[in-house]
Amino acid sequence: MGGSPLRILVVGAGIAGLAVARALRLAGFRPDVTEKLPPTELVDTGLYLPGNAARALRRLDLDGPVRPLGRVIHRQRFLDAAGAPLCEVDLDALWAGVGECRALSWAELHRVLLTGAGGAVRHGAELSAVELQPGRVSVGFTDGTSGEYDLVVGADGPRSAVRTLAALGGPPRPAGQVVYRSVVRGGPRIADWTALLGQRSGFLMVPIGAGRLYCYADEAGTVPPADPLTRLGELFGDYGGPVPDVLGTLDQVHVSVTEEIELGRWFHGRVLLIGDAAHATAPTLSQGAAMALEDAVVLAESLRAAGSVDAALLAYESRRRPRTRWVRDRTRDRNRTRDVPPALRDPLLRGRGGRIFQEHYRLLVDPL
Ligand SMILES: Cc1cc2nc3c(=O)[nH]c(=O)nc-3n(C[C@H](O)[C@H](O)[C@H](O)COP(=O)(O)OP(=O)(O)OC[C@H]3O[C@@H](n4cnc5c(N)ncnc54)[C@H](O)[C@@H]3O)c2cc1C
Repeated sequence: MGGSPLRILVVGAGIAGLAVARALRLAGFRPDVTEKLPPTELVDTGLYLPGNAARALRRLDLDGPVRPLGRVIHRQRFLDAAGAPLCEVDLDALWAGVGECRALSWAELHRVLLTGAGGAVRHGAELSAVELQPGRVSVGFTDGTSGEYDLVVGADGPRSAVRTLAALGGPPRPAGQVVYRSVVRGGPRIADWTALLGQRSGFLMVPIGAGRLYCYADEAGTVPPADPLTRLGELFGDYGGPVPDVLGTLDQVHVSVTEEIELGRWFHGRVLLIGDAAHATAPTLSQGAAMALEDAVVLAESLRAAGSVDAALLAYESRRRPRTRWVRDRTRDRNRTRDVPPALRDPLLRGRGGRIFQEHYRLLVDPL
């Protein structure tokens, strides 16, 4: 159906929405994209992209603009809370033939995707109504505008309005962690993805270029604290390695709770969910952006190859289910190990940690 005058609306201009807009344009479609926030309100933070994200960016013909951004990451180092080595993963070996692992600023990737999507995003347009009709969808926005489409792609994140309006599912489930994110300048020099694992909490640092360090800390729980900086001091004040230096440079900290979406189906009539709206997980494996980019590639391929929209949606869901299920299940496996006391966990990680962590990505190395 590539090049057909199919009227497609993409709701949400995050990574999933912009990537699918790019993929659809490459396949000959001309989607409309709407985003409820004005462009200035997007929060910046860091992002770590494993090798399968690089492969999907290549398929979107965006590897060129992304290559100068951030830092290529060659190794994941896992340390105990005191800063003593537990195990390592050689990322070049793990993702050989797939793509480089890269850490960068979320805003930098977003800019590349926005340009790639053709730039035509209608900001400040919040979808508020969806009416399913045979073979089409009527939509309405909070600003009073409306439209009619052959396909609506809900890329509006874990708290998706499209999901609710199209009766595909309810609110997300808490996944069990409170997460603290910050980008610091002038912190210690760290070359690798480096995580210190404590008791039901952890502190991760990864360089994102231009002297910046992306810090990601988490603890078990579902309620964000009133004073994140004080809480970080309480949680990580006695950690070793580079953590004390990093804590000293923290200024602005974004706090969130992790959420999970598990749905029985991803489409209803001509409304389809992609990205976090369909399959959000806790970010433990850093696969959220990669899954969103892969979704975009596969949806455009499915629409181009199938004889009808309905056949394309079926083909899309059956191709994407196994990989997103794998990410969800391995994320849950990894999160369950948080309850294992370090005295039991750390000797195991010293012996086999590299192999265990590497195994979590096995299916994702395979072709899309
Ligand atoms: C703490 C944390 C850390 C993470 N770290 C990583 C990482 O290191 N690596 C990685 O790969 N992934 C990471 N992720 C996951 C990753 O950010 C997401 O999976 C990825 O960005 C895909 O998101 P999305 O585009 O589906 O949704 P979102 O990023 O949530 O985008 C949805 C967009 O839709 C808009 N929207 C919402 N409702 C409406 C509406 N009604 N009308 C119009 N627009 C609407 C929103 O404003 C938003 O712009 C992390 C996530 C979290 C929470």
